[in-house]
Amino acid sequence: MNQECKQVFEALKWASSFLEDNNREAHAARLLLQHVLKIEYTQLMLKMQEPLTDEQQQQFKQLVDQHVAGTPVQYLIGQEEFYGRPFEVTPDVLIPRPETEELVYTTLNKMSSLFPSKSLKFADIGTGSGAIAISMKKECPELEVTATDLSEAALEVARRNAVTNEADIRFLQGDLTKPLGDEKFDIILSNPPYIAHDEAKDMEDVVLEHEPHSALFADENGLKLYRELCEQLPHIMNKPGLIGFEIGYQQGEAVENLLKMHFPNGKIEVLKDLFGQNRMVFCEIK
Ligand code: GLN
Repeated sequence: MNQECKQVFEALKWASSFLEDNNREAHAARLLLQHVLKIEYTQLMLKMQEPLTDEQQQQFKQLVDQHVAGTPVQYLIGQEEFYGRPFEVTPDVLIPRPETEELVYTTLNKMSSLFPSKSLKFADIGTGSGAIAISMKKECPELEVTATDLSEAALEVARRNAVTNEADIRFLQGDLTKPLGDEKFDIILSNPPYIAHDEAKDMEDVVLEHEPHSALFADENGLKLYRELCEQLPHIMNKPGLIGFEIGYQQGEAVENLLKMHFPNGKIEVLKDLFGQNRMVFCEIK
C-alpha cells in the first residue's frame, strides 16, 4: 500500500496527481474518496487530517485504478447528479449528461407559455435511469408522468430512482411509444439512442467500453428512432402539444425534416446546448 495514502489529505494528493498523469480528471479523486468514506464533500474537507484504515486505503486505491483503466467514476460510485438530484446509475443505463438537463430546463420554460393548465400528461420515451421523467415530475408535481423503456434492466434502475427521489411515475416496458397504446399526451420528451455506428471510432473509451450500446447507437445513420417516433407520435399527441428530442449535433436538419413530414403545422425549433452545438429539437403543435 502506498505510504502516501494514510490520511485523507495524502490520499487525495496522491490520487489527484496519479489521475492527472493518466489523463483522467483529478476531481475524480474526491468523488471516489467520498464514496469510500460515505460522506459529503463538506465533511470530507473537515476530515483532511484524519487517518484512513487499511481497508479504506485499499478500496480507494482499487477504485482509482479502475477509473484509470477506463471505468467511468459514475459507475464506480453508482451515482450521478441530474438537475440537482441523485440518480443511481449502473451499466444498464446511460450516465445522464448535462446536455439532457438543458432539455428538461427548456421544456419547463416552454410549458409555462404554451399550456394554460398545469395538469398535463407527460411521457418520457426511452427513460433509461429515469432522469428526464423524474426531474419533470419533481419540478412540476401537477404533471401526470409516464416513462417507457425497452430495457427491463434499465426500468429497474429507473424505478429505484423514482422511489429515492419520491416521484410518482408510471413505468411501462416496451418499444418507444407502443406501451402507451392510443392514450393521448400533452408533452412528450425523448433522448433516444442517436449515435451512428460509424461514429464509434471517434468516441472515448470510457463511453464506448462501459456505457450500454443499446442506449447510444441507432441504425439509419443514428436517425432510426426519430423516424419511428415521428411516425408514432401523431396518433398520441394532444393539441396543444409539445415534443422535445435530444439530438446529435449533426442531426438538426434531418430531425427537423422528419418532424415536418408528420407535423406539417408544427412550429419546429432546433436549439443549441451550452457548448454551442445543436442538441435539441422542439415541435409545438397548436
Ligand atoms: N449524448 C450521448 C453521448 O454523446 C449520447 C446519448 C444518446 O445517444 N442518446 O455519449
